[in-house]
Amino acid sequence: MSLEDLIDKILKTDWSEEQISKFIGPYNGSFFAYSTDHLVRSNAASGGTVTAILEGLLNRGEIDAAVVCVLEIVDGKVEANFRLARTHEELLEAQGSKYISTRFSSQAMELIRNFEGKLAVVCLPCDAKLLNKAIEKSPELKEKVTCIITLFCGHLSQPDLTQLIVDRLRPEPESQLKDFRYRSGHWRGRLIAEYEEGHVVSKKFSAFSKYQNLYYFCETKCMHCYDHIGYFGDIACGDIWLQRMKNDPIKHSAVIAKTERGLRIVEDTAKDGLLVVEPQPIVEIVEAQSRSFKIHYNISARAKAGEKLGLKIKDEVNEKVRWSDYQVARIILKNYLLTQTEEGREKVRNMSRQKVTLQLYLLKALEVL
Ligand SMILES: Cc1cc2nc3c(=O)[nH]c(=O)nc-3n(C[C@H](O)[C@H](O)[C@H](O)COP(=O)(O)OP(=O)(O)OC[C@H]3O[C@@H](n4cnc5c(N)ncnc54)[C@H](O)[C@@H]3O)c2cc1C
Ligand code: SF4
Repeated sequence: MSLEDLIDKILKTDWSEEQISKFIGPYNGSFFAYSTDHLVRSNAASGGTVTAILEGLLNRGEIDAAVVCVLEIVDGKVEANFRLARTHEELLEAQGSKYISTRFSSQAMELIRNFEGKLAVVCLPCDAKLLNKAIEKSPELKEKVTCIITLFCGHLSQPDLTQLIVDRLRPEPESQLKDFRYRSGHWRGRLIAEYEEGHVVSKKFSAFSKYQNLYYFCETKCMHCYDHIGYFGDIACGDIWLQRMKNDPIKHSAVIAKTERGLRIVEDTAKDGLLVVEPQPIVEIVEAQSRSFKIHYNISARAKAGEKLGLKIKDEVNEKVRWSDYQVARIILKNYLLTQTEEGREKVRNMSRQKVTLQLYLLKALEVL
């Protein structure tokens, strides 16, 4: 047995059917998958599966465009904006995960409402819920949106976190940011910031994710959310954090076909030769996310910890709250609350990297208990 298999075995949890059903809701199939196009894979957040599915839908004429999310630099600051993609090139430009706040309800919904033709929409679980509500009220929207692809979602971060990293990596105080990418490459990948005069700074993604994983600068709505994969989409796509996949030269995506329509689309994308699809038991997908599912779903722990911290969170799931769940929730909420004030944000900006790393180890240790 390899070391990676051994680590997976040690960390393996026995998930009950009831737990899985709470995390995922109804589903029609679960897979590991990756794009057959090397270029799509090398530019992707995970296995390029979302892009392959969108390309298949466009090629087969099932949609006229896809609503995607791109990163732009406006006045030297990183912004995420929704766009329509109609071509292979436009799909490639939109690849990668955008961990910064987005404006789905205003920007994306306007694009969707004003578009004439068929659409696929890529969005986060909370946005899929919103879109689904709008679709239920409008037969026209129902006809228009032929596929909703959700991204598994830990949480979004406020723009200040991205700015902290951009400022920290700036080669000279006056260097202007030209391009930015949160993650590219294998496994956790690398963060890339490009400044004027050709200065390209590449750092481990952990330069950003250690703050993100500690919930510093987390979006408020995420404190109240327990949907990790997208209860309201057709297809859900995410990463696979199994040690045994770390050495696989091809990065795979975890894929859940939520609806029959979603399953048919995944199968058609594979038949078209755009996607390699390997059926997997749903428990493997849960295992590949284990800590995140448990923590995200347990809003009961956040509601309980919130009471003591003056933060009202509605407990919609009535989960059991163990000592370690409570401690994890307390750290998450405290860190979130700290970065809601300018004074707190400044404190985090000035925190030594060793201290941040130490805090993350402590949180991770509590998470696996
Ligand atoms: C905020 C956020 C949190 C995430 N958290 C997790 C997690 O905890 N666990 C996990 O397994 N996976 C998580 N993911 C999903 C993962 O990072 C990949 O996005 C997913 O696996 C799809 O990869 P891919 O290679 O198939 O997509 P690609 O081929 O790279 O395409 C990605 C598509 O998603 C769109 N997109 C990117 N960001 C956004 C956004 N913010 N809103 C709407 N559309 C967007 C792009 O426009 C593009 O069309 C998260 C993603 C985001 C954006
Ligand atoms: S954690 Fe929930 S509320 Fe926050 S961005 Fe993700 S899906 Fe939306």
